[in-house]
Amino acid sequence: MKDARKIKAVKRMKQIMTEYYIDAKTAKQNGKKVAWITSGGPVEPLIAMDVIPVYPENHGAMIGASKMGVDLCEKAEAMGYARDLCSYARSDIACAPLNGGPIGGLPAPDFLVCCNNICGTVLKWYEVQARYFKVPLFILDTPFIHTEFSVEAKNYVRRQMLEYITFLEEQCGKKMDMDRMDQVGRLAVQGQRLWQEVLDTTMHSPAPMTAFDAFFHLALIVTLRGTQTVIDYYTELRDEMRQRIADGIGMVPDEKYRLLWDNLPVWYKTKWLSDKFATHGACLVADTYTSAWSGVVHLIDENNFIESAAIAYSSVYINISIDMMLDTLRKMITKYKADGLVIHSNRSCKPYSLGQYDLQRMVMKEFGVPSLIIEADMVDERNFSESQIETRIDAFMETLAQKKN
Ligand code: SF4
Repeated sequence: MKDARKIKAVKRMKQIMTEYYIDAKTAKQNGKKVAWITSGGPVEPLIAMDVIPVYPENHGAMIGASKMGVDLCEKAEAMGYARDLCSYARSDIACAPLNGGPIGGLPAPDFLVCCNNICGTVLKWYEVQARYFKVPLFILDTPFIHTEFSVEAKNYVRRQMLEYITFLEEQCGKKMDMDRMDQVGRLAVQGQRLWQEVLDTTMHSPAPMTAFDAFFHLALIVTLRGTQTVIDYYTELRDEMRQRIADGIGMVPDEKYRLLWDNLPVWYKTKWLSDKFATHGACLVADTYTSAWSGVVHLIDENNFIESAAIAYSSVYINISIDMMLDTLRKMITKYKADGLVIHSNRSCKPYSLGQYDLQRMVMKEFGVPSLIIEADMVDERNFSESQIETRIDAFMETLAQKKN
């Protein structure tokens, strides 16, 4: 039965990611350019210009999952970076001069693209790397949305999207082919819709996959958005999930509780956490993190990608106020029929973690949905206390059991 629950598409995903990193690592030999870009940055213009996008954050996740985070974070600290700095930034900064990490470092960038829709840390981090590699940096500034996105702010970001294209044309020495850009934009939208369809399969009880699986399968919508590869892969994955529903296969045997996860994964402990929740019959059916790559798709006009994407990219989950975040959580609790909320208070990611205690209180007040706060870090294992977290999960599950019975 355990084998029946294994997701078959995983094999294909690993193949795609291996090919992608080989392509990126051999880009120079093949006359291709490489751009490092933040995970929330508009990648589509790069794809349309045949530039290979590389994501230090995705690499950071790989470093965390391969448990190499502490070593690299300590190396960054020895270079003078504070332990308080985001562990993606620390591990990437330490990796660059050492060619360290699970894939022997990332290919050197020809230029960098930084969008601050996720945080302010990336600005300084990318400046450091632009100086280290002596390459140009393009910054796309997206104002924070407190209540509404003003017309002035929208126009401000739209103008930068056009400047971004001009920057790319200068870096690549060729004009943007706008027909190709339109085509990439349409594929990006289609990819995001398919990703949401994959995530939506967990509305079914028992859920055919968990948020832990979503963390793994997320890599493609982040790294290769705007390509046919993403469409083909998520179509295959969605169909596999639908088949599991038809066959009555749930990822957690005897699913009793349905939980939501907030914030980034704890990359080095995903298996441990997944097993721990599963022993209680608890399935993490959805999370705010992986849905961030499809949550704003409704704001994109496929026929006017560049301008509408500027609005969508500014509206992502951690570039909005707590009230607006609560609205997203409200919809997710109802949609996925969640019994509880697991909040990862992530020492690294301040913009994601700030306000989580307020959110917890508001969710409890409005829905009576119990929640658990886990204090940890996505990459730096020094901030994870297994025995303490285990005790808290057990206590939380007991509360949930009493509430449900
Ligand atoms: S601070 Fe948060 S959003 Fe910024 S790079 Fe680190 S993990 Fe990502």
